[in-house]
Amino acid sequence: MRPPPRPDGRPTLLSYSPDMHRDTAILHAGYRNPHDAGASLPGPQFSSTFTTPGDPSQHAWTYGRFHNPTWTGWEQALGVLEGGEAVAYASGMAATMAVFGVTLKPGSVLVLPSDCYYSTRVVAANWLGSIGVQIRQAPTPGGAQAALLDGATLLWIETPSNPQLDVCDLRLLIDAARAKGVVTAVDNTTATAYLQQPLALGATYSVASDTKMLTGHSDVLLGHVATADPERATALRLWRTQHGAIPGPMEVWLAHRSLATLPLRARQQCDSALRLATALAASRDVAAVHYPGLASHPGHAIAARQMTAFGAVVSFDLGTRPRAEAFLRALAIVREATSFGGVHSSAERRARWGGDAIGEGFIRFSVGCEPADDLIADVSQALGRL
Ligand code: PLP
Repeated sequence: MRPPPRPDGRPTLLSYSPDMHRDTAILHAGYRNPHDAGASLPGPQFSSTFTTPGDPSQHAWTYGRFHNPTWTGWEQALGVLEGGEAVAYASGMAATMAVFGVTLKPGSVLVLPSDCYYSTRVVAANWLGSIGVQIRQAPTPGGAQAALLDGATLLWIETPSNPQLDVCDLRLLIDAARAKGVVTAVDNTTATAYLQQPLALGATYSVASDTKMLTGHSDVLLGHVATADPERATALRLWRTQHGAIPGPMEVWLAHRSLATLPLRARQQCDSALRLATALAASRDVAAVHYPGLASHPGHAIAARQMTAFGAVVSFDLGTRPRAEAFLRALAIVREATSFGGVHSSAERRARWGGDAIGEGFIRFSVGCEPADDLIADVSQALGRL
């Protein structure tokens, strides 16, 4: 219900009104009510300690590892985006480790995609393995993880997966896990909660690296976990307090500022990504194009059901390392860099890092906010030089 109009005739906008368009809610999320006097987005609060005479439980703010007013606004905004309670961390990996930390102990069983983000697999194999967590792995496509759920503790899902952009059916896997009493966590980094909402599909946790499209300016590392269960949110917050993987107030403030343009950026980037993927699929110079928005992608129908657009990353294969390197060198407006989701397009030969089952000529291309015509022209001229 929209609140009644103000006597002075100005519209009354509140962040959480359910009859509002979602983009409006995101734009205002975590900001002050527009009628409250003061800065709309107060500056970052840099304070390791807060003055707390007497009994500390009588004070809202005590010590900078426990809480910070800048985090609170950001987490309220993330909560609106996710449809749950959000806890912010210093990076996507810190968020991932928080979920592992609050759900797994020696003897637990983790079901993990064999093609998910490399560092997630490394931390599972090296650290969780060393403390006695059993790891079971299956690839993302075809919902293959569903066959590994008997006796499992946590099902970790990543869709679209990085870097091959494979897709699995979130509802199917989440329901299968719930039927067996298995907790679910979705690494939603590639899509962001703007394009895909794991909590609405029943996931226990929605996890993301906010370093990517969610903040979109390639200037911060951040992560978060969201959950609809208040007790789990409390445990996540306690994990952060005790392990110290806290975000800096400056990063959080920049991120909150960037969130307001997420709907605009995501629309532009996803539209351009689909156009670029279509152009690449028609090119004789490209061996294979991976983009869930293409009708030829094996997971297209599932992605169309569970995503509102198909993301800013397009992966494709140029066959060999020399061809991929020559292509990257020939690009004029696209920088060679890792990471993805920023407003400036970037690309890299992914196999230079190792760890993924991909060919030497595999390119992960992150589509930015440049007009699609310019991007396609640049990619075409670079392909033309191979
Ligand atoms: N999850 C996915 C899918 C990623 O691509 C990344 C980073 O690339 C991470 C998690 C880790 O995020 P961060 O680098 O912010 O720790």
